[in-house]
Amino acid sequence: MTNSPAVVDFLDRLRLVTGSSTAGLHEPEFRGNESRYVTECIDSGYVSSVGEFVTRFEQSITQYVGSASTVAIVNGTAALHLALLAVGVRPGDEVLVPALSFVATANAVSHAGAIPHFVDVEEERWGIDASALREHIAAIGIVRDGNLYNRTTERPITAIIPMHTLGHPCAVADLTELADEFGLLMVEDAAESLGSTVGELYTGLFGRLGVFSFNGNKTITTGGGGAIVTKDEKLAGLVRHLSTTARISHPYEFDHDAVGYNYRMPNINAALGLAQMEQLPNLVDRQRKLFKRYNHVFSGGEFGEVHREPLGARSNYWLQALKLRSDRRANKSVLIESSVDAGIPVRPLWKPLNTLSPYISHPSSRTAVANDLYERVICLPSSASLTERDFPLEA
Ligand SMILES: *Cc1c(COP(=O)(O)O)cnc(C)c1O
Repeated sequence: MTNSPAVVDFLDRLRLVTGSSTAGLHEPEFRGNESRYVTECIDSGYVSSVGEFVTRFEQSITQYVGSASTVAIVNGTAALHLALLAVGVRPGDEVLVPALSFVATANAVSHAGAIPHFVDVEEERWGIDASALREHIAAIGIVRDGNLYNRTTERPITAIIPMHTLGHPCAVADLTELADEFGLLMVEDAAESLGSTVGELYTGLFGRLGVFSFNGNKTITTGGGGAIVTKDEKLAGLVRHLSTTARISHPYEFDHDAVGYNYRMPNINAALGLAQMEQLPNLVDRQRKLFKRYNHVFSGGEFGEVHREPLGARSNYWLQALKLRSDRRANKSVLIESSVDAGIPVRPLWKPLNTLSPYISHPSSRTAVANDLYERVICLPSSASLTERDFPLEA
């Protein structure tokens, strides 16, 4: 099959940034002390739970984002699960989550025995829409004794998980206000937004607990991994305790005061992570630079707009994305398919979570914006290393 002129044009533009790249959507990069620290870790014999690198990795995150404390966790999903338990989400509670997110956001709620309640996102930032949520709560909610309930299911709505889509900070200030008004616990899914800020504050520090992911496709990686950050030292202590089987510290006795989890990050992953943290500012700089290249390539708006950071915020630009013009939405599939066939790994956004089979009968607001974004957005190759290629259009 020969490509239509529009597809040829699209591929030509992409190749100005990617070349004939066959790399993944977001490739990790190991150019610093990664091998050195991992080897040191192996040589020390302490590759598993607890060890010097876990502490050093946690400290480097604490220092970077300015939290009071950081707890390194086996992965982002487990970190979200534990964060929900630690703030007090109980089985049978409903938790407000964006319909547009990676499935882990909803799964973590389910793992806690709670019920994800999906809400729509806003057009500008692609995170939870605070004013639409207010209307939704007015329509389905009822406040009794200061607690919010879902009138239809009769279950308490106790928490909210804002997520910073593709690294771009969502409307955290409005959502914090709403959470305070309705007594909702806020856990921030900052899995994609390590290094992004709103005003002076790093994402992850707006909720009672914030969660990062260090999966292989994120801005930095530990192989698999996650972290919980907080300004609340005491809550961090609870998280740390629950993540290490709730064992009471003792020279030799095995005594546990709760049903704990084996969720602490192994030392060998933290060794990789410490080296990656040293690269983080540079990685974010290059991810931001990559946006400029795509923005240049797609300037004129013939296909649509490259997604950009909101005013008042600085994004880590984890994943670059093109939002097709509304009248081009029918081209999404063929553009994705042709690019993948040509060896350029582009991807759609996640299907709205309220349309997935495990979640289809869960409570949900109307999700017109999430549906629209799913139909129109193409995620573009986003490895920081792409900025090291020659770019013919650069001034
Ligand atoms: C990556 C990611 C997570 C966590 O994923 P893990 O692979 O478990 O580390 C959670 N939420 C979002 C939005 C993510 O993108």
